[in-house]
Amino acid sequence: MTSSASSDKSPPDAPRPAGPSTLAVHAGEARQKPINSITDPIVCAATYTFSNTQAIIDYIEQKQDREEYGRYGNPSEKVVERKLATLEAGEDAVLYASGMAAIVGLLMTKLNSGDEVVFFDECYHRSREFCSKHLSRFGVVTRQVKACDYDAMAAAINPRTKLLVSESPTNPHLSVVDLEKFAELGRRHHVETLIDATLATPYNVQPLTYGVDYVLHSATKYLGGHNDLLAGVIIGSREKLEPVRKLRGIMGAINSPHNMYLLERGLKTFELRMQRQNATGQAVAEFLAGHPRVSRVYYPGLPSHPYHEIAQRQMRGFGGLVTFEVRDADWKATAAVVDAAKIARIAPSLGGVESLIEQPLVMSYFEVPAEDRRRFGISDNMIRLSCGIENTEDIVEDLRQALEAK
Ligand SMILES: *Cc1c(COP(=O)(O)O)cnc(C)c1O
Repeated sequence: MTSSASSDKSPPDAPRPAGPSTLAVHAGEARQKPINSITDPIVCAATYTFSNTQAIIDYIEQKQDREEYGRYGNPSEKVVERKLATLEAGEDAVLYASGMAAIVGLLMTKLNSGDEVVFFDECYHRSREFCSKHLSRFGVVTRQVKACDYDAMAAAINPRTKLLVSESPTNPHLSVVDLEKFAELGRRHHVETLIDATLATPYNVQPLTYGVDYVLHSATKYLGGHNDLLAGVIIGSREKLEPVRKLRGIMGAINSPHNMYLLERGLKTFELRMQRQNATGQAVAEFLAGHPRVSRVYYPGLPSHPYHEIAQRQMRGFGGLVTFEVRDADWKATAAVVDAAKIARIAPSLGGVESLIEQPLVMSYFEVPAEDRRRFGISDNMIRLSCGIENTEDIVEDLRQALEAK
């Protein structure tokens, strides 16, 4: 199975494209595998042998597609790269040992000293930290503008700008970027665009089909889906990813075959998990919006969400992450709600089969000055819930008892 563009571009007699679950189960895999196994074998090899000197030369001259040395990739990783590229309607995918390694890998490949990168400001705090503390040491300038303010982003672009970056939806506010506008902004200024679509997943939106150049995922989250592995991936055109892959081979931030087996296995149930998590996210958001102890809910599937309209136009579902604020609660009263949860476990991360609950102030921003927290929109009474695949009614009831405990 190969990647197919969105169906409206297919000629009328083209075969019907396979659905997301069929792709998640089969795409990227050989129909007949080594030793006739239905699953891909885990090949534990740090290096790969050549039968003779001519075989090395044939490999160097690209006459033979094969493995060389473990830092450049392994067969298990290649299968998952093909699967993820197909799910995302992209040509190629490069996997990394974590989402952060993927972000660092892309930025280090694309940016030179003196270049500039423009970010929408609602983003994963470690991406922000890498830019402000580390890219700056190499003479790269990072500009941050308010999320979804396209005029501000356009105004921040100058001839040194090389990359526009955003998450969609953003974490933890779940703002939704108008991908067509974002991609168009890049094209108009001849600047490449990157969307971190970890919270959306290719089930809910495929940014490449809107003209975005690179899609990035922390595969640690929904793609792996079981809170048991870390991985990251960048998807885009083969040509644009070639230098990214080469630098990865030097950085060495690749995945072990064991890890890739887990990711390939996790992906088999990708659509089933997404359907449940989308449905539970919506139900939980609706429940919270009607609860007297909740003063605000951030969820793109609610009509009250500022980006509901664009989310409806662009997304198949709105995901399993719901952020909310406890009415008139200080940070301790908010922590009491988190601590009262009986099903959702207290932990960072999101997207896995286990529901996870956390207070961003404590989990990610405890040592950040209050003034900066306010600037990043992290309020003391904010709670972030990642709905797992437990039964929807159980998660809703757990939240109800946590909000009404005492
Ligand atoms: C978790 C996360 C990352 C970082 O991914 P890791 O796999 O933890 O390195 C980046 N972006 C978003 C939106 C995330 O949620």
